[in-house]
Amino acid sequence: MKTVYLDNNATTQVAPEAVEAMLPFLREHYGNPSSMHSFGGRVGKAVEEARELVAELLGAEQPSEIVFTSCGTEADSTAIWSALNTETKKNHIITTRVEHPAVRSLALHLKRKGYQVTELPVHSDGLLDPRDVERAITKKTAIISIMSANNETGVLFPIAEIGAIAASYGVKFHTDAVQIVGKEPLNVQDLNVNFLALSGHKIHAPKGIGALYVKRGTRFRPFLIGGHQERGRRGGTEGVPNIVALGKAAQMALAHLDDEQTRVRGMRDRLEKGLLAAIPSSKVNGHGEKRLPNTSNISFEHVEGEAILLMMSDLGMAASSGSACTSGSLEPSHVLRAMGVPYTFAHGSIRFSLSRYNTDAEVDYVLEHMPPIIARLREISPFWKD
Ligand code: PLP
Repeated sequence: MKTVYLDNNATTQVAPEAVEAMLPFLREHYGNPSSMHSFGGRVGKAVEEARELVAELLGAEQPSEIVFTSCGTEADSTAIWSALNTETKKNHIITTRVEHPAVRSLALHLKRKGYQVTELPVHSDGLLDPRDVERAITKKTAIISIMSANNETGVLFPIAEIGAIAASYGVKFHTDAVQIVGKEPLNVQDLNVNFLALSGHKIHAPKGIGALYVKRGTRFRPFLIGGHQERGRRGGTEGVPNIVALGKAAQMALAHLDDEQTRVRGMRDRLEKGLLAAIPSSKVNGHGEKRLPNTSNISFEHVEGEAILLMMSDLGMAASSGSACTSGSLEPSHVLRAMGVPYTFAHGSIRFSLSRYNTDAEVDYVLEHMPPIIARLREISPFWKD
C-alpha cells in the first residue's frame, strides 16, 4: 500500500546520512568521550564536531554554548530549573496557554509547588501580543518561557521582540524552539535569548537526543547532577551515536533551509488550498502567513478528528489530530481551545506536517482521497446538514 507520512511535527524520518554518520560510533568507536586513551579521544572529537554543527545551525557565538541533552523536554526543563535555581529570590514564571506539555506541564507542576505562573492568552489566529509579555513582568519574574513556533498550528511567536523586552527588564528568557529549528532561519544572537531548546527527532536525527543553547554569561545550574560531562552542565555519559547523528542532521537542516522555505512551503500551500476548495465548512487554524512553512492545521466541521485519522490510515496516510501528546484524549486540544476555535470545528481538526522527504505526488494522493473521507463521515454525522 502507498504510504504518505504527513506527521513530521510529531517526529521525522531519520536522514540516511545521519544513520551513516552514527554507525561507526555504534560499531568500532565505542570509547567513552571522557577517557584519556585513544578510544576516548576519537569519540570526544566527534562530539565536539557535532557541537560545532549545532552551534552553526543556531548562529551561536561559541560551540561551548551548546549542551547536549536526551531530548527537547529535558532541554526545556533544564532551562527553566536553571533559572529558578539561580534566581532563588524570584518565584514568578511567564509562559503561554499554548505551550507544548514539555513546558506547560512543568509550569503547572511548579504552580502546585507554590510558584506564581502567568499563562498568557493568544488571539483567535494563534498570535501572541508581546505587550502582554511586558505587562506580565514583575520584580519577582525569574524566567519567561515562550515557544518559537506552535507544534499544532505552526504559528510563529515574535521571539526577537519578546527577547528585547526580557533583556530590557533583565529577566531571563527561554524559548522552546523544537518546532522552528530547521524550518525557519534562526540566529540566537538576534533573539536575546538566554536559553533555546531543540530536539533531534524533529530534524531528521534519531529520538533520544536534544540540545540546549545557553548564552555565554548566563548563570547556570545543571538539571542532571552527576559527572563533569558537558563542562559540568549535564551529568551522564554522552549519547555519542545520537550526538553525531544530530550534528549531521543540523548540518543538513542548514543546507535544506531554502528548500523548506520554497518547495516544502509550496507543497503545503497547494495541499491547504486544494483541501479548502474541495471540502465545504473547512478552515485553517492559525495565522495565514506567520506560520511554519510545513504545517497546516485544518478543521472539518462536524466530523471527529480520530475518525478522519483512522480512515486516512486505512489508505496509508499519516497525520495527527491535536498534538501527538494530546491525541488519545477526546478533549479538543488546549491550543485550539486557547484560540477559541468552536467545538464543532475543534473536534475535527487535523494537523498535516510535511518535510523535505514529501513529494508533489503525495500531495496529489491526499488531495484525491481526503474529500471522499470527509464526505463519507459527514453522511453518518447527526449534525451535518448539506
Ligand atoms: N516542544 C515542542 C514544541 C514539541 O513539539 C515537542 C515534541 O513534540 C517537544 C517540546 C518535546 O521534544 P522531545 O520529544 O524531544 O522531548
